[in-house]
Amino acid sequence: MKRYSLDDTIAAISTPMGESGIGIVRLSGKDALAVADSIFLSKNEGSVSNFMTYTTHYGWIVEDKKSKAIVDEIILTVMRSPKSYTREDVVEINCHGGIAALRRVLELALEKGCRLALPGEFTKRAFLNGRIDLAQAEAILDIIKAKTDNALKIGAEQLRGGLSRELNRIRKDLLHILVVLEADIDFPDEGLGPVLMRKIKKSLDDTNARLLKLLDETRRARLLHEGISVVICGRTNVGKSSLLNALLRRERSIVTPVAGTTRDTVEEVMDIKGIPVKIVDTAGIIRPRDLIERKAIGRSKRYIAMADLVILLFDGSKRLSSQDQVIMQRLKDKTVLAAINKIDLEQKIEKDEIARKFANTVCISAKKGRNISLLEDAIAGLAYEGKFSHHESASVTNLRHIEKIRKAQKLIAEAANSVDNNNLLSAEYVCQDIRDALLAFDDILGRRFSEELLDKIFSSFCIGK
Ligand code: GDP
Repeated sequence: MKRYSLDDTIAAISTPMGESGIGIVRLSGKDALAVADSIFLSKNEGSVSNFMTYTTHYGWIVEDKKSKAIVDEIILTVMRSPKSYTREDVVEINCHGGIAALRRVLELALEKGCRLALPGEFTKRAFLNGRIDLAQAEAILDIIKAKTDNALKIGAEQLRGGLSRELNRIRKDLLHILVVLEADIDFPDEGLGPVLMRKIKKSLDDTNARLLKLLDETRRARLLHEGISVVICGRTNVGKSSLLNALLRRERSIVTPVAGTTRDTVEEVMDIKGIPVKIVDTAGIIRPRDLIERKAIGRSKRYIAMADLVILLFDGSKRLSSQDQVIMQRLKDKTVLAAINKIDLEQKIEKDEIARKFANTVCISAKKGRNISLLEDAIAGLAYEGKFSHHESASVTNLRHIEKIRKAQKLIAEAANSVDNNNLLSAEYVCQDIRDALLAFDDILGRRFSEELLDKIFSSFCIGK
């Protein structure tokens, strides 16, 4: 338990290392004010220990108060317990953003009695001190890591307590049902009566629906956060590079009429209808001519194996070739979006055969930029429908929530099932299901947690957060 001791006063550089206008060293804990006092020389000669909360002060960080050897010119902010990020006394020192300045200020804080903060320890303290729940702590991580507006919005909503509020509401309803059922177990003679039974059944059904909705939202949040990986496949010259370019709406990979020029994989990240999409243009080689091509094929295969979605491209101006057939065969276990390219030319391809094999087919012209938006809609549609199993590199945060919400939802669905309209088959079982569902909520909100879980969550923060 020593590791979670809240007695230490911690310090860390809270801004990225590098050259910048300002950088922040943050202190938190019971000695934060005293430590800051011992290295800060105020312009107005005040002492940090007497500064009011949420006030900023101009002055200098000095090697020691006697020699007054100046390290940097700074602005110091005091946030007193409990109204601070960690609920402890917090001091933020805004110094110049050079590595030497930040490092020296931090060193001085450590010399004067602070301990270097562990990764995510400021946020962990905010959680352990009860300012935020675990889902909110995780939201902070999501916000820090958010790369698109959508991801940021979701993180911000979760930090404001969106997820926690809904879980707490459901929790309250379940506790209410539990009380009624437990009374029935304790006093079986009185019986619940058909009216109350119907009420419980309805309550459980409602809760189940709300959990399903929450599950859907969480899955969607994860999608918007993590994005999806899409691979463009197809034999040489069907227009893979052209399609990638059309999607990017700028030149990236070399488009040429010579067969097999995309010798290697080309990878880009783009925003398709709000979803971050990592898109890979694979080498369209079937039979390698040399070592480089052999390697390129190996790489393509790995990309395909990991992809959430494969766009299989055909040349509409030609009949299906044996190479097309080989590739179709290879992709039979993947989620495939078939795209028939070159619709600006006379069409010879066996469209029906493709439509029979693949449920999702779009006709496009990569070169003329036709129907690219339709293709994007199809990609986004499949993603939102959750038509593919997501790769498992995802952040712990959302995955953890999804697992727990799914668990709770299954339990409640079971509970609802076992409550017959007129007859309670087994009150004990229903109660147990509800209790287990409540525990899953407790896990998300951090009402109960293990050291390992906290380590797993907070170690993905960096030091200073
Ligand atoms: P890749 O080998 O699959 O990457 O194919 P490229 O993108 O290099 O394209 C091969 C050739 O097909 C190039 O000459 C492109 O200009 C041409 N091409 C690609 N898309 C279209 C299209 O929609 N219509 C027409 N007419 N030509 C296209």
